[in-house]
Amino acid sequence: MVPSVIRTTICAFLGACLCASWFACGSAAEPVTVRVAILRDAVMARVSVQGYYRIEDAATHQALAEGKDLKGAITAFKYAVNINGRRYPQSRLYLRPQDSGSIEVNGRRYPGDLEIIRGRGSAVLVNHVGLEDYVKGIAVREISHYWPFEALLAHTIVFRTYALYAVQQNAKRDYDVTGDVYSQVYGGAAAERYRISDACDQTSGDVLTCGGRIFPAYYHSTCGGHTQNASILWNIDIPALSGVDCVYCKGSPHFSWNAAIPVAEAVGKLSAAGIMADGITAIETSDIDQSGRVVKLALRTARGGFVEIAGKDFRQILGNDIVKSTNFDVVLRGRMIEFSGRGWGHGVGLCQWGAYFMAKAGYSFSDILAYYYPGSEVRNINTYGIR
Ligand SMILES: [Zn+2]
Repeated sequence: MVPSVIRTTICAFLGACLCASWFACGSAAEPVTVRVAILRDAVMARVSVQGYYRIEDAATHQALAEGKDLKGAITAFKYAVNINGRRYPQSRLYLRPQDSGSIEVNGRRYPGDLEIIRGRGSAVLVNHVGLEDYVKGIAVREISHYWPFEALLAHTIVFRTYALYAVQQNAKRDYDVTGDVYSQVYGGAAAERYRISDACDQTSGDVLTCGGRIFPAYYHSTCGGHTQNASILWNIDIPALSGVDCVYCKGSPHFSWNAAIPVAEAVGKLSAAGIMADGITAIETSDIDQSGRVVKLALRTARGGFVEIAGKDFRQILGNDIVKSTNFDVVLRGRMIEFSGRGWGHGVGLCQWGAYFMAKAGYSFSDILAYYYPGSEVRNINTYGIR
């Protein structure tokens, strides 16, 4: 493991090279908007706006319609979108509430504007929402608002950092994040809770940086004793995501788990993923990393050969909710594959239950973040600005 002092030095070096591309140091910050795809491949959605609204051509910002108290449907056709019965041939539209109005889509209220991006017979509905409102909208979906306040503060900074990184990475795409588990689960305005909103307000604009640079501040439920080095899982080699020992999550409800899958079911799932492992007769973990996670397994098949598969792929194919982490022991017992494992999630970055117990033990949010993202620093985007 690299000592934290060296990590900080590496972060500082990265910052010297890359800071300018992320931060316009000292300049006034523009409000950051997150573009959240709340519905994809939508043919029809119910929509309403209380108060005044405006429909614009997203390319020219020309007003196409204005009105008050919209209640109707958005319907996508091949060459047009209908909003409340009126046809719009434009490929991209904005529906903007005026004053302090908000939009409801399929009964869920969203702050900010709605962009409608037409495909061929369907549309993507994208909520343009301010960064702070976005963090408030996801936080309660990702953690309990009853958690200790320092843990909430730490999480709001992590969520904001993750979102801002996505905004920077996806500037040329139609949206920055999806509103589901593939990004951060987003519930819109209805998901806001007082303690979380308070935590968000207290950390407003704070993000994590490594060498002055925003990084993808991954998080997961429970690491099971050691967080994962991101470079083992993905093509990301950042000192702040290099993995640390964690003694804090032992009390997590997900610290240890057991699972069993019939061999036939596993073979079927592997086959559907293009991996032929007919009649598994033995399973060996052939490569285990320093955190205890399975990097590779070898499956002996009925024909006598071996099929090698990455631990992360094996987990995903069998089901991330069944095989809760790659930190497992596995045995073949009769016609069942039996797992006993530790932790839940990919294991990179913040261990959420570790953060919970650190806060319970009296650590501050900055202690928590410094622990799980070694060498990182908290900076405020309103001071530094971003490009
Ligand atoms: Zn942990």
